Amino acid sequence: MAKNDKLYDLIIVGGGPIGIACALEAEKKALSYLILEKGTVVNSLYNYPTNMQFFSTSEKLELDEIPFISKEAKPSKQEALEYYRRIATSRRLNMKLFEKVEAVENACDVFQVTTTKSNHSARNIILATGFYDLPNLMNVPGEELHKVFHYYDDPHLYAFQKVAVVGASNSAVDAALEIYRKGGDVTMIVRGNEIGDRVKYWVKPDVENRIKEGSIKALFNAQIVKIEQDIIKIDQKGQEITLENDFVLALTGYRPNFKMLKSLGVKLEGKMKKPVYDSQTMETNVPGIYLAGVVCGGLETHKWFIENSRAHAALIAEHIANK
Ligand SMILES: Cc1cc2nc3c(=O)[nH]c(=O)nc-3n(C[C@H](O)[C@H](O)[C@H](O)COP(=O)(O)OP(=O)(O)OC[C@H]3O[C@@H](n4cnc5c(N)ncnc54)[C@H](O)[C@@H]3O)c2cc1C
Repeated sequence: MAKNDKLYDLIIVGGGPIGIACALEAEKKALSYLILEKGTVVNSLYNYPTNMQFFSTSEKLELDEIPFISKEAKPSKQEALEYYRRIATSRRLNMKLFEKVEAVENACDVFQVTTTKSNHSARNIILATGFYDLPNLMNVPGEELHKVFHYYDDPHLYAFQKVAVVGASNSAVDAALEIYRKGGDVTMIVRGNEIGDRVKYWVKPDVENRIKEGSIKALFNAQIVKIEQDIIKIDQKGQEITLENDFVLALTGYRPNFKMLKSLGVKLEGKMKKPVYDSQTMETNVPGIYLAGVVCGGLETHKWFIENSRAHAALIAEHIANK
């Protein structure tokens, strides 16, 4: 495996919007850096649903005040990919793509980073790994079948099919509405007794009215207990219901890579597994290891998003530069 002799001031793990923000701030402070990204540039965004529209207006997604021009106030996925990719090109960001970080070890105040392709060293590490890689599993028999997906892409696949959409958050609601409008026969399976209260205010009445009129079916206080090739079994308040089924879209959320955080010695607190860090500097309980972006929230993945976490980058660069 290739060994690189360069010692960076910092290595940024994750080339999402916040990893890119960290690189821009590092450049301003003349800190040497390298972004290591396991997929393409802004890999999580690349894997978002084809027709998604951000809930933020474009200026709230801007990095380093670089204008983000979009056709409508709230940009599309394609516009966001274009925006962040153009920043990577025009600012000539130092990044290695399709190079996944597998281990980070601390040897005498220098971090040794082992990836799928190479080894790198840095005095500081920023973890900007997001939360989108690891879906929250239902842990039911049949979840491994090919008809079960934890990511939603495009509604066309589901036309004329019986689709169970599990969850009641933004992702589940967007998928249920799109699939219904492309001719899918949708049943939402919701653990609680209503559609999530964080669903976008302009979308919530739409799904509630579709449920009321019966265009989209919904089972509340219900969960899937078994998935088979042609049916699913659901428990609703102790009663077993069997439904014919072609596809299950389990949109039950995602979680940060806690295994990686723990392996680095970052402490996780409480039921929500909130990583320990200083909110003024973003440094964790491990000196030299920083967190940026949505990874900061532990299981509360809704707490941080691009809008409110892009500010992490400047805090970190300032702290490292003053060391
Ligand atoms: C459908 C949807 C709509 C959204 N709309 C908005 C919105 O309107 N406004 C808003 O502010 N936020 C929105 N968000 C949330 C926002 O996209 C995330 O908060 C944001 O992507 C966080 O950026 P990040 O850089 O912290 O993480 P990510 O974008 O997830 O980036 C993390 C990166 O780390 C990489 N990575 C992970 N592990 C490794 C490893 N071991 N080695 C190397 N690389 C690794 C991943 O491939 C990924 O590219 C939305 C999210 C979803 C799902």
